[in-house]
Amino acid sequence: MSDISKPQLMHFYDEESAELAIAIVKYAMERVKMDPPPLDKPYTLSELQQIVGQTIKPEGRNGIDVLREFVDELAPSCISVDHPLFLSFVPGAPTESSVLFDLVVASSNIYAGSWLEGAGAVYAENQAIKWVSDMAGMPEESGGVFVAGGTAGNLSALIAARWRWRHRAGGALDRTRPLIIASGGSHSSVEQAAKVMDADVLKVPADQRGRTDGVAMQRFLSSLNESELQRVCAIVATAGTTNVGVVDDLEGIAKVARAIGTWLHIDGAYGAAALCAPSVRHLFNGIEHADSMIVDPHKWLFGPYDSCALIYRNPAEARHAHTQHAEYLDVLQQDGEVRDEAWNPADLAHHLSRRARGLPFWFSLAMHGTEAYTEAMEATLEVARQGAQLVRDAKHVELVLEPELSVIVFRRIGWTPEQYQMWSDRILGEGLAFVVPSTWDGETVLRMCIVNPRTTVAGLASIIGSLA
Ligand SMILES: *Cc1c(COP(=O)(O)O)cnc(C)c1O
Repeated sequence: MSDISKPQLMHFYDEESAELAIAIVKYAMERVKMDPPPLDKPYTLSELQQIVGQTIKPEGRNGIDVLREFVDELAPSCISVDHPLFLSFVPGAPTESSVLFDLVVASSNIYAGSWLEGAGAVYAENQAIKWVSDMAGMPEESGGVFVAGGTAGNLSALIAARWRWRHRAGGALDRTRPLIIASGGSHSSVEQAAKVMDADVLKVPADQRGRTDGVAMQRFLSSLNESELQRVCAIVATAGTTNVGVVDDLEGIAKVARAIGTWLHIDGAYGAAALCAPSVRHLFNGIEHADSMIVDPHKWLFGPYDSCALIYRNPAEARHAHTQHAEYLDVLQQDGEVRDEAWNPADLAHHLSRRARGLPFWFSLAMHGTEAYTEAMEATLEVARQGAQLVRDAKHVELVLEPELSVIVFRRIGWTPEQYQMWSDRILGEGLAFVVPSTWDGETVLRMCIVNPRTTVAGLASIIGSLA
């Protein structure tokens, strides 16, 4: 039995805590200063077992020692997503201020699921959400919540769509399996959401560039029979496909969705960040018709992991789908001075407890101003355009597609899939860059996704040069 008359040392600020606080802040300072950070690479499990061994012991260890173990041995076994030549998947490039403010979010440990407990944090998060929804042209009463990522955002949006579809049918569809119609370039998380929801997904054929337009959507819907059409609970369009960065015909798809009264969800996890860039804003025309949309600040809006802004045209519909009811929670929904205008983020997605994960993004927006976001976004787009020109100009490589946003898809002429993989492993091993092969139309290709304002044209040239 523990002795409750003695102070519980684990929850006690003492000299050791003070020393640790300084060491941690110092590390954070040095990490955000690194330009560039080392690229690093993953060790194997047996290497880590050998280098690090057992970290957790019954008697505990000195905090500084554990921190050093992380800094010297564990962190170097994690690839730096913010390295300017990390160009695989969708990288991230959090601003220094957003990362530093994450330390504040962590030390405050705010419960940001309800207005009652987290009003100030939720208020600030909502202003960051509003910046996005205003750029999209969503109505004044729209609103949303920050969830962990695009996968969580797509799932929560589609659950709300399913709620509305069943609600409108007044019980007639309560036992009917829902059907989601997704554009050809939709992300794997849409199919994953459907699996979780026990729904089916049908993908509309895309054109040669991977784009789906309103005509293709209409044609596809016309090919469904009456009972299939009844099962359609949502149409999903993609605002920036992950593999090639192409934006669907949002205007055309929105028209089709509206004509049959179906929920339109727009997945802009990667691409909708570019709403703030005038040079490509026209690609997103029609996004204002969405019933729900998402964009990940941890991808191209210069925020740290993990955050996805999920926005609903009519948040009340999301509340119907997501609000949890329990004896101990119902106080959050009752009337009262604070609760009358309550905005409970917990009610808008598949979650309850949540950290105020939108705050690092909010802080950076408030500090630097939205114009700095436009500038940084245009800078990444321009580097991508010049990178594509380098590919056009070189003899040993060629563009597979004309880039629309900031993804460059190209081939090394004459290479086999094995050669691509060997090259990719080699340049990661050398610490030059992280570029993994992808496929397009059955062909192994290379793909560079540029979201980091520190990525330079010279850096892209060194990658293209190493392919010769
Ligand atoms: C990355 C991505 C997702 C998934 O987002 P996570 O934050 O990784 O869960 C969904 N849709 C698109 C279009 C994406 O690019």
